[in-house]
Amino acid sequence: MAEQKRDYYEVLGVSKTSSDDEIKKAYRKLAKKYHPDMNPGDKEAEVKFKEASEAYAVLSDAEKRRQYDQFGHAAFEGGAGGGGGFDFSGMDFGDIFGDIFGDIFGGGRRSANSNGPRRGANLRAAVRITFEEAVFGCEKEIEIVLKEECATCHGTGAKPGTTPVSCGKCGGKGKIIYTQQSLFGTMQNVQTCPDCHGTGKVVKEKCSDCHGTGYKSVKKRIQVSVPAGIDDGQSIRIRDKGEPGVNGGPRGDLLVEVVVSRHPIFTRRDMDLFSTVSMSYAQATLGGELRIHTIDGDVLYDIKPGTQTDTRIRLKGKGVPSLRNKDYRGDHYVTLVVDVPTTLSAEAKEALRKFDELAGNSLKSEDKKDNDTKKKKKKFF
Ligand SMILES: [Zn+2]
Ligand SMILES: [Zn+2]
Repeated sequence: MAEQKRDYYEVLGVSKTSSDDEIKKAYRKLAKKYHPDMNPGDKEAEVKFKEASEAYAVLSDAEKRRQYDQFGHAAFEGGAGGGGGFDFSGMDFGDIFGDIFGDIFGGGRRSANSNGPRRGANLRAAVRITFEEAVFGCEKEIEIVLKEECATCHGTGAKPGTTPVSCGKCGGKGKIIYTQQSLFGTMQNVQTCPDCHGTGKVVKEKCSDCHGTGYKSVKKRIQVSVPAGIDDGQSIRIRDKGEPGVNGGPRGDLLVEVVVSRHPIFTRRDMDLFSTVSMSYAQATLGGELRIHTIDGDVLYDIKPGTQTDTRIRLKGKGVPSLRNKDYRGDHYVTLVVDVPTTLSAEAKEALRKFDELAGNSLKSEDKKDNDTKKKKKKFF
């Protein structure tokens, strides 16, 4: 099940109209309280810290805040909302919030302890849904391959009875620091150790069940709750269904991208729907009830006498629900087009000629012109 994320404003305890300064202040207070360096080993504090940092990353950036105000969390979980799908899980908050942490910790940033617990990478999957399913929401089941801890070695990758040993290449640190000369002076680069992949440990005798990886790939069926109002290209985050963490770190998340099939009648832009409905010449002229297909079913719409072709009408609240509030829906815009018949019975054609005579004789004058040109041509040849 997709976990419902808390509202960013609520996380920071600020209002929607709060200024940048107020948001910064609120975040600073929370960051101080929940920072992992202040709460070693406290998982709950770490979660709260990440939640607050994520909220601040969005609300402190004018453009992202605007997107969030418009689309909610969906703005950052896929392409369609315009967020480009940015992902917080792999972020080093020390870099992004350097100015704030500089304040709090006297310039000393939290250095990533790379052979400590690390969160696993996110996995991506996709699910195809119908146009209607995107509008009204649905439950889907997808199959993914998840890495699960190997039962034989309990995830160590070492043959039972042996234990992994400290990595010789990095001295058990999991990372290698090298210095580089550049235009801007000496730069220090930190790289994850290629031998132990950052764990600081290497396995001498591998577990035969998992070939030393510590994991086994298992096919899993996962329930995905698709919220009403989701759009093509947006993703649903399912917590802890990503790659396993390293050294006891939490699993990454599963990001399920939603691919929405096209609809034969409706097109969609954000929360609004669009369609074209044809009316007969008689209907357009005389007015009356017109049957219009909406996403909620057919409605009868009273068109005015003398309705012109390409008239656009709005069916309020017949659009797509907002992702943030199901009760709020966009509108459905219908373009009315006069249908010109291509197959008419002889009787109907006769009636139409009769009608034309009564309405101004446009056919006769055209006939005359036609005959004139024909005569001229005959003469010419
Ligand atoms: Zn194993
Ligand atoms: Zn190493």
